[in-house]
Order: sequence, then C-alpha cells, then structure tokens
Amino acid sequence: MNTADETQILDAIGKWLERDVRPKAHELEKKDEYPESMVETMKELGLFGATIPQAYGGLGLPASTYAKIVAQISEVWMSLTGIFNSHLIMAAAVARYGTEEQKRRFLPKFASGEIRGGLALTEPDCGTDLQAIRTRAVRDGKDYVVNGTKTWISNGIKGSCFALLVKTDPNASPRHKGMTMFLAEKGKGFRVSKKLDKLGYKGIDSAELIFEDYRVPAQNLIGGEEGKGFHHAIGGLELGRINVAARGVGVANAALKDSVAYAQVRKTFGKPICEHQAIQLKLGEMATRCEAARLLVESAARAYDAGERCDMEAGMAKYFASEAALENSIEAVRIHGGYGYSTEFNVERYYRDAPLMCIGEGTNEMQRIIIARQLIARNPA
Ligand SMILES: Cc1cc2nc3c(=O)[nH]c(=O)nc-3n(C[C@H](O)[C@H](O)[C@H](O)COP(=O)(O)OP(=O)(O)OC[C@H]3O[C@@H](n4cnc5c(N)ncnc54)[C@H](O)[C@@H]3O)c2cc1C
Repeated sequence: MNTADETQILDAIGKWLERDVRPKAHELEKKDEYPESMVETMKELGLFGATIPQAYGGLGLPASTYAKIVAQISEVWMSLTGIFNSHLIMAAAVARYGTEEQKRRFLPKFASGEIRGGLALTEPDCGTDLQAIRTRAVRDGKDYVVNGTKTWISNGIKGSCFALLVKTDPNASPRHKGMTMFLAEKGKGFRVSKKLDKLGYKGIDSAELIFEDYRVPAQNLIGGEEGKGFHHAIGGLELGRINVAARGVGVANAALKDSVAYAQVRKTFGKPICEHQAIQLKLGEMATRCEAARLLVESAARAYDAGERCDMEAGMAKYFASEAALENSIEAVRIHGGYGYSTEFNVERYYRDAPLMCIGEGTNEMQRIIIARQLIARNPA
C-alpha cells in the first residue's frame, strides 16, 4: 500500500471520527448502547473487510495500515474497534486455513459487514488454557452436533457467525490434536444466554453463548479437516495481539492529549499546572510511553506483513502498549485531580477501558512468558 492511499483512508476515518463519533461516544458509552448508526458507516468505510483479501471483496490492507486505523479509532472510542477486530480474526482464519468454497461463501459477506461476528474460544472454566475447553462436537451424518458454553464472546449478541473452537476428540493426546474450529452461524440450538456487564468496553456486547444439540454442517469445518482447530486459533493471535497493541496506543495517546490540554488551562498557585515539575514529569513519561508503544506496534506489524514469525514482536507490542494505556490513563486521572474522577470527563473511561487490553488476546503475564521462551529459542547458548 502506498503512502497516498494510506493517508486517504486515515483521512476519511479521521473525518468520520470527528463528525459522528467524538460528539456521541460519551453518551452512548454511559448508556452502554450499541452504536448502530456508527456500525453502518463502518460498513461503508470498508472496516469489516479491512484485512480481507481484495479477491474476496475486502480492502486487503497490510497490518501496518490496519494498526494505524485501530489506534486512530481507539483514541476516540476504543469499543468501536472491538466490533471489527475479532470479526477480522474470524475472517483471517477462513482466509488462511479455509477451503476455497468456504472463502467464496463467507469472505465477501464478512467484508461487506452483511455477516458479522467474532471468535468463540473462551469458556467459563478456561481462557488462557485453551486446550482445556469442553465444548464438544460429535459427527452425525452431514453435520456435527455441538454442546457446550462459551463466555465473554465479543459481538455475541449483535453478531451472527462465530469461529467456534470445540473438541472433536476429548481423549486426544496431545490435547490440541482433538480440537477443531467451525464457522457457527446462529440457528436452532445456538442461543445467547446473557449479556455480560463490564467495568468498561461499553457499547459493544460481550455475551455468554450456549450450544444445545446445535447442528453445524460439516462443510463449515474450517479447512475441512478435524484436529487443526488449536493451530487455527493460535494462528490468529499474532494479528490479534497487534490489534490489541494498537488499541493500547490509541488509549495511551488519548490520555496524553487530554492531559496536555488540561494541564495548560488548570491553574494552581497562580500558574498552569503544566508549569509544576511534578506534572511535567508525568507528561514526559506519558509521551515517551506513547512513542515507544507506537514504534513497537509498527515494528510488529512490519514483521507480520513481511510474513516473518512475529510472536515475540507482537507479544512485546501487546504487553508494552496495553500497560502504557493503563499507566497513562491513571496518570491522566491524577492530572485532572477531582475532575479525573468525574464521569463528565473522558479520562475515567480510559481508566476503565485500559485493563481489558492487559487481559484480552493472551494476558500480559503470558506475553512475558512467550517473549522469554522466544528469546531462549532464538538465542541458543
Ligand atoms: C471484555 C472481554 C472481551 C473478551 N472477548 C473475547 C472474545 O471475543 N472471544 C473469546 O474467546 N474470549 C474473549 N475474552 C476472554 C479473554 O480472552 C480471557 O478472559 C483471557 O484469555 C483470560 O482467560 P481467563 O479469563 O479464563 O483467565 P485465566 O486463564 O483463568 O487466568 C487467570 C490469571 O492467571 C494467569 N495465568 C493463567 N495461566 C498462567 C500461566 N501458565 N502462567 C502464569 N500466569 C497464568 C493469567 O495471566 C491471569 O492473570 C474476552 C474477555 C473480556 C474481559
């Protein structure tokens, strides 16, 4: 993608954010209301097909451009990115591992936003230890019959199709060989049991999904072969982590920008608080975190676009950028003093949104373990 094309896309999104999103985000967030009309514009902007290959109706954007878009939107309202992020990871599983028939059947509708959805991996008993899932699929003629529960599924209510990770052989050893991924479209036996209430990340629906004798056609088994589901789920994590890292950059930047503005207008002891050294130290650290996080995301996205293995790079970006968002958001609250604790200002939202990025797409505890393992593997003594 050349720079002019990238600038054009970022400009169009920037105009939409200022015109339609910034004025309404605060109110919708407070009401925890799904942003229906914003989703319509997101379809028009092509966001639901951002990383889907052009041959299947998407924009085919590289991860480096995509990460800039995610950061830009997150700077205004991070929740919006959740509506297309996990949807695009589902699409990437089809684009990478699906059969040609599955790509033709699903990708154009994913790209237009006609079918939207996400990833259904986590269960009430397990998230990090994905190989412990218990949702079961048993072959029956041309279908598989699925029973089990998934939780914390983003877009679980508004979405209609999910990349669903199940066990087809619960006794397999190693465990991952018994795991399979399906494209599960809502229908008889597939229901939403509840909407989950959250600290932040409002507006977007997180839900528990229940499968009771749900029949999914065998032709929806991604790649057509059982036993590859864990591989498919893990394969999406590099892009997923770049996603979350880019969200971290956006929230960290938002916290910085609001603080820089506020510190110049709020006066104590006869001068703006930005002239007090204690505040300057905070701003200096916040700005440095933003820049470091941005560069780590850029570097991980470049490696991803070059087709290089980048679990360590994506892990570093995800870990650092999400912690940067969390640290910057609490510093923004402190800089705003009592107003930082008020629901009238946006900084309390950043502070509620940021922890999610330390948990989702592999917790930050796991990221550091992954980074260390890769360090050892790449540098044998
Ligand atoms: C708002 C929100 C949206 C989400 N969206 C989705 C979605 O769309 N799809 C989906 O499938 N899931 C989704 N999730 C689930 C998310 O991916 C999991 O919460 C996450 O993977 C952590 O799993 P867990 O909650 O089961 O925590 P656990 O795995 O129980 O971990 C608990 C703690 O133990 C630590 N820990 C676990 N194992 C180890 C280890 N080996 N070494 C060191 N520390 C360890 C963890 O780091 C964590 O601190 C979402 C979660 C939230 C909150």
